[in-house]
Amino acid sequence: MPQVLSHQQLSEIADEFGTPIYIYHAERITEQYNRLKSAFRKTDASFFYASKALTNINILQHIRSIGCNVDCSSINEVRLALMAGFEPARVLYTSNNIAFSEIAEAVSLGVHVNIDSLSNLQKFGERFGHSYPVGIRLRPNIMAGGNLKISTGHNKSKFGVPVEDIAQVLDLMKTYKLHVRTLHIHTGSEIKDVAVFAKGIEVLFELIKHFSELEIIDLGGGFKVPYVPGEEGTNVELLGEKVKEEFDMMAKIYGRQLKVWFEPGKFLVSEAGYFVTKVQVLKRSGDICFAGIDSGLNHLIRPMFYGSYHHIENISNAEGLSQPYHVVGNICETDTFAEDRLIAEIREDDYLVFYNAGAYGFEMSSNYNARFKPAEVLVKDNKAHLIRRRDTLEDMLATHVILKD
Ligand code: PLP
Repeated sequence: MPQVLSHQQLSEIADEFGTPIYIYHAERITEQYNRLKSAFRKTDASFFYASKALTNINILQHIRSIGCNVDCSSINEVRLALMAGFEPARVLYTSNNIAFSEIAEAVSLGVHVNIDSLSNLQKFGERFGHSYPVGIRLRPNIMAGGNLKISTGHNKSKFGVPVEDIAQVLDLMKTYKLHVRTLHIHTGSEIKDVAVFAKGIEVLFELIKHFSELEIIDLGGGFKVPYVPGEEGTNVELLGEKVKEEFDMMAKIYGRQLKVWFEPGKFLVSEAGYFVTKVQVLKRSGDICFAGIDSGLNHLIRPMFYGSYHHIENISNAEGLSQPYHVVGNICETDTFAEDRLIAEIREDDYLVFYNAGAYGFEMSSNYNARFKPAEVLVKDNKAHLIRRRDTLEDMLATHVILKD
């Protein structure tokens, strides 16, 4: 059974640090990392945590301490990773539509770089030629992922160099003697079907023959974890077997054994995160009972952004009779977290916990409506540590340049 934080632990942390609050469980992250290592133990696999999911520096330090590497989606994430103590060789920068200056900076910092456009690849060639190994992010034209907003590898997606432009990639490689070490794809997030990853491998394997210095196939992230109770995630053990099979076959055909890299975000931190809020107002309207909480889409945007499901429980009255509620926020737009959701009877001041809040929860939060962002707590060795204090009005004003009245 996976490790979980109990209602009592969550309530005590909410009492101590206030709500709304994000709570993360270090040992649960470790557990997920160990599961991946075990699933892929028969292949030369490495994992780069997609830090965009949750960048608190304490989380990055924990990820480093358990031996996992880190993947970054902006130069600031690269800087944060280095601040968290990762050696450059353990940092990967997978960019999308960025200024070349960021790629040049990443090179000067000594981290791995995946490039996702022909124009940046050309600039890279002009500046670095063969002197620095490079990865190329390709768009494999595969439809995958939980919904269109998190589907990134299809044939209308902005991500990666379209695979049909491979001739131009090869021209650039020849012109600038590029040292192409990695081919990369990331087809989307919440991919349950192992066959989708196999399809990606197939697309890349077709191309291997063109890249004599290739060492790494990077399959990106996207492993699904269960969000709805009873739902199943990606069978990473089965995928581990499949990847071994495919890579062994490829080694036979091409006479070289490639490494496989993954960039899991949700898989590592989603289930380790809990978001605890307090019910401020109960309001009845006809058949509907609204439970209005001390949070909103400014703190957890996933339900309103792409219809994500987060399981919700009343941790103050878990034995109460289940009733349907619309759980809604305090923001001046419609911000609905759940409709007609069966939850144990809710009273004002009860704590509601949202599960699977570790990935893209705090990280996508904002100060909309001039509300403070939630605080963050890390539970490690059974102790709760505050790892981000709640904002203050001074914090929010810190970057304002106040003109004279
Ligand atoms: N790698 C890349 C390039 C991504 O864009 C993303 C997510 O957007 C990830 C990895 C992580 O995806 P997930 O959190 O679904 O594992």
